[in-house]
Amino acid sequence: MSEPLASTETPARDAHASLLHSLVAQSPALIAIRGNDGTYLYANESFAQTLNVPAASLPGRHEDDVLHTAGLPRALRIGNGASAEVTHSEEEAIVGLRARRFLITRFPLRAGDSEVIASGMIATEIGARAGSLPNPAEYAESRHAELLHALEQMERLAYTDRLTGAWNRRHLEDAALLEMSRAERHGHAVSLLVLDVDHFKEINDQLGHAVGDYVLVELVRRIRSDIRRADTITRWGGEEFVVLAPDTALREAEQLAHKLCARVAEARLSSARPVTISAGVAEYRCGEGFEHWLARADRAMYRAKNTGRNRVVADPYSAFASDGTRLASSPVELVWRESYRSGNERVDRQHRQLFEHANRLLQAVIAHAPRAEVLEAMEVLVEDITAHFAEEERLHASIGYPDREAHAAEHGHLLAQANRLFERARLDAELPIAEVFQFLAYDIVAQHLVGADRQYFPYLETPPASATR
Ligand code: GH3
Ligand code: MG
Ligand code: MG
Repeated sequence: MSEPLASTETPARDAHASLLHSLVAQSPALIAIRGNDGTYLYANESFAQTLNVPAASLPGRHEDDVLHTAGLPRALRIGNGASAEVTHSEEEAIVGLRARRFLITRFPLRAGDSEVIASGMIATEIGARAGSLPNPAEYAESRHAELLHALEQMERLAYTDRLTGAWNRRHLEDAALLEMSRAERHGHAVSLLVLDVDHFKEINDQLGHAVGDYVLVELVRRIRSDIRRADTITRWGGEEFVVLAPDTALREAEQLAHKLCARVAEARLSSARPVTISAGVAEYRCGEGFEHWLARADRAMYRAKNTGRNRVVADPYSAFASDGTRLASSPVELVWRESYRSGNERVDRQHRQLFEHANRLLQAVIAHAPRAEVLEAMEVLVEDITAHFAEEERLHASIGYPDREAHAAEHGHLLAQANRLFERARLDAELPIAEVFQFLAYDIVAQHLVGADRQYFPYLETPPASATR
């Protein structure tokens, strides 16, 4: 074939050639020939149809351009067969939206016995790929699903901690903001648990960093199996994790934290030494920011560390009663609850009195009572607090409460704050209500009387007689 065969319309030279030509032209096999310069010399109808171009347009065009435009850059390429022998291969090509398999024969075309002047190809379709999709719509759908899956994986990686597979900070912040807005809008409860491995540095130092890593990975695996699907675990930093528990009020979050602590301790993550965690819990309080909420849970976690580790401490705020009903929000009155009782009569009486005096001050501030009245209420409360703290510290000493120093330090801090507020009340014309409320309701009552004080209640179970009278 020294002359280019243009297309099926190429006139036959003689009857023999004409018969041969129509055979090739009408063959269901894909047949094409290219010259040594890479341009097509001939292509039959089946070949052209497969590429979705008119057969007559192919001669003279470079096969790389044609295949590239057709979206089949590698498949059905004839290539340069100048020095090659005849080859047979089975190849797959995505044609249209279908994967099709071809048996392909490539061969050199010689002028006489020697010179290779062109290369040819005959491709016979031998069926669709096993399991390939029966129709274009389904195929397109599956490709689309694959693409979405790949995108999801990428997104997941951007939000995942590499070592443990837990979520990373970025994810927690996004998820928490979403839950916070749900809580604001619909009144759902949502809680955070801050979990920190106890003495993790020692695990690393004694058993090696690889064991430390293993402990972290296993820890996440265990915790994941113990939380609900809606809960998420995030690696906040080295050996600190945060569980975000939607639709969970403080009581349930506390129970969950107890369960997680117990499970981790039971799991014996290292055979060489016990591995435990300490947990701090905080329920979201409408209106506060994420950082503030997390800080409350973190402070509770530190209290768990300071009072012996492998334990749970909850920040006392909750908008829900233990039976799950929402508590009426009464921003102007601090309500004493039976559950605040320590069992020690004297402590309980003083605590109740503090509530009463705190309420008196609050009412005076809110009602813009005369200055003298506010100052008097304030003075009484500061005296109360001072006396109560001193008494409590004596009680701690007598029962040998191990965390008494830290507790006394907190007393000192609160008293200093109370005195500062008192000073301001004497100097300024009016006390800012929000600040007074924050201090009384939150710092003194919620954080301290209902929060920190609970830590020593268990030590009061068999109180020495001298301390109770
Ligand atoms: P505490 O009970 O007070 O929490 O004591 P701790 O030793 O657990 O706390 P500390 O914060 O002193 O030590 C944490 C250690 O965690 C120090 C750091 O080297 C180690 N750490 C942080 N990230 C990784 C990690 O990815 N792999 C390993 N193996 N260790 C880590
Ligand atoms: Mg730490
Ligand atoms: Mg730690």
